Order: sequence, then C-alpha cells, then structure tokens
Amino acid sequence: MASFTQERVLDVHHWTDTLFSFTTTRDPSFRFRNGEFTMMGLALSEKPLLRAYSVASANYEENLEFFSIKVADGPLTSRLQHLKTGDNVIVGRKATGTLVIDNLKNGRNLYLIGTGTGLAPFLSVIKDPATYERFEKVVLLHGCRRVSELAYGELITERLPKDELIGEMVRSQLIYFPTVTRDPFRNRGRITDLITSGKLFSEIALPTLHPAHDRVMICGSPALLADTKQLLLDQHFVEGNHGEPGDFVVEKAFAER
Ligand SMILES: Cc1cc2nc3c(=O)[nH]c(=O)nc-3n(C[C@H](O)[C@H](O)[C@H](O)COP(=O)(O)OP(=O)(O)OC[C@H]3O[C@@H](n4cnc5c(N)ncnc54)[C@H](O)[C@@H]3O)c2cc1C
Repeated sequence: MASFTQERVLDVHHWTDTLFSFTTTRDPSFRFRNGEFTMMGLALSEKPLLRAYSVASANYEENLEFFSIKVADGPLTSRLQHLKTGDNVIVGRKATGTLVIDNLKNGRNLYLIGTGTGLAPFLSVIKDPATYERFEKVVLLHGCRRVSELAYGELITERLPKDELIGEMVRSQLIYFPTVTRDPFRNRGRITDLITSGKLFSEIALPTLHPAHDRVMICGSPALLADTKQLLLDQHFVEGNHGEPGDFVVEKAFAER
C-alpha cells in the first residue's frame, strides 16, 4: 500500500501575505489523534515534495484542514501558497507527534501555548470532547507579531461556542488568550513574559502555573520552545512523552534551516 493518499483541495483561505489555510478531502482510512502531524505536500514530476504538517481539523471531522506559512523561497510553500480549489495534495497515511493529551498526566487546567502556525495542532485539541472531559479549564494562548496573524479567532470565539457537539464545553471551559508583540491590541507581549510577570493569570483569573494542577502543551519556534521549556523546568514541571505522561509536552512548529 502506498504511504500517501492523494487528496483534493476543497477550499483555500488567505489570512495574510504569509499565512493561509486550506481544507482537503480525507481518505476514510486516515486515522490520527488530535494534536498529531503528518507529512503533506505536492506530487511534483520527479518525486513528492513533503513537509511535516499538523492536522488542524479534529479526528472526527470529514475533511482535513492545514494552516500554513508561506516562505517566499521555501521549496514547498512557495508552490503550495498558489493552491486552488480542485488541486491535489498528497497526505501521509501515518500521523505522529507528542502534542496529545494521552502524553499528559491528569491535571486541573490545560495550557495550550502556540505561536504562529504553532496554533494548528491546538485547533484540533480544542475541538476534542476528551480534552474537556480530562481538564476543567483549557487555556489557548496564541502569540503573533501582528493582529492580522491571529488566525482562526472567529472560529474560536464565534463558531465553536455554538457547535452542536462541543459548544457547551467550549463556552464554560475554554479560555482564549491571543497576544501580539508589534501592534496595539488588548493583550500585548511575549507569552513567556506574560507568564513570568503574572499578568496572564490576573487577566484570566486562574492561579499562577504550578505542576500540582497545571498541564502544558507548547508548539512554536525553536526559541519559544527553549524559553518556555526552561521556565517550566525551573518550576519543577516534568516533560512527558509517548508511554511516559508528564506535566508538559513540546513540539517544534518548524525546524530552522
Ligand atoms: C512537527 C512539525 C510540524 C509542522 N507543522 C506545520 C504546520 O502545521 N504549518 C506550517 O506552516 N508549517 C509546519 N511545519 C513546518 C513545515 O514542515 C515546513 O517547514 C513549512 O511548510 C515550510 O516548507 P518549505 O519547504 O516552504 O520551507 P522549508 O525549507 O521547510 O523552511 C524554510 C525556513 O522557513 C522557516 N519556516 C518554515 N516553516 C515555518 C513556519 N511554520 N512558521 C515560521 N517559519 C517557518 C524556517 O526558518 C525554515 O528554516 C511543521 C514542522 C514540524 C517539524
């Protein structure tokens, strides 16, 4: 059996000149856990051009969704950004990744910390009823430079609260905290600074981070991962992994060239 399936693009949305998202058909045999990534790309004439992509749709949804950067000279995204409805992409048959709730010990509050396209795996996690069954409050932090980059805000604040399956849980348990560093906005500053200053917790009315009651997932630039991970290790949070659930888990949103 081939390790990839060919899927048809159903819809493309451009958020900014550097960010876009698209939905595709989904092979019925493609299974994944919410928060995982797969390989996705284009079947060029010579050989497939593939990159790791988080699945932004939930595992119970009929179609797949991806949230992508546009890198001007990026081998894949310089082409992928021109996708149109009806075009084909190829999607790996296997999904993997550490950002799954099974890799976390039980706790009271779940913090999902994403910067840029690092939001993608959490879009799937916040649509999962199991997330709300395991945690009392789910805090989604999305950090970007510009307000225009805060993609999916309308989905999170308008559509999910009205969703038939998870609307009630979203309304009572999900706290969405977008923040930007370069534009005027109601929340400003780097996520790590908002945590260390305590400003985040006074804004969302929750106690400061503590391994006794909080669990954390992080997905962002290598620099964000390093800083946030150190901050958690300093507070005696233990990193989790497959087969060894912990207090926090991390995944790169991209690798540096
Ligand atoms: C586990 C994992 C999950 C990923 N999930 C996603 C995802 O859901 N959406 C997504 O857009 N990308 C994601 N990526 C990055 C993706 O694999 C590619 O790097 C990206 O699609 C660019 O491909 P490219 O061939 O155009 O350029 P590449 O040669 O792959 O990248 C060129 C350079 O662009 C920068 N860059 C690449 N991706 C990003 C990004 N997402 N944000 C900011 N800068 C970036 C980096 O500096 C990189 O070195 C993920 C990477 C990993 C490791």
